[in-house]
Amino acid sequence: MADNVVKLKPTRPCPVCGKPSTQVHHPFCSGRCADIDLNRWLSGAYVIPAGPVAEDDDDVLPTADSADEEE
Ligand SMILES: [Zn+2]
Repeated sequence: MADNVVKLKPTRPCPVCGKPSTQVHHPFCSGRCADIDLNRWLSGAYVIPAGPVAEDDDDVLPTADSADEEE
């Protein structure tokens, strides 16, 4: 009967390696996996703005005529 008792805090698998997470490093299994996940976010943040920047290549060398048009 006691086997049907639901645990209050079910352990979730580590999102990095899939091992059971620990309360100390929740939701990761260790500080190492936490660093890996953080690096993924940081690297992803750098990748996103890298795309549209290429479009600015046409405006890298503005001519004198285009400057006059702003007024
Ligand atoms: Zn892990």
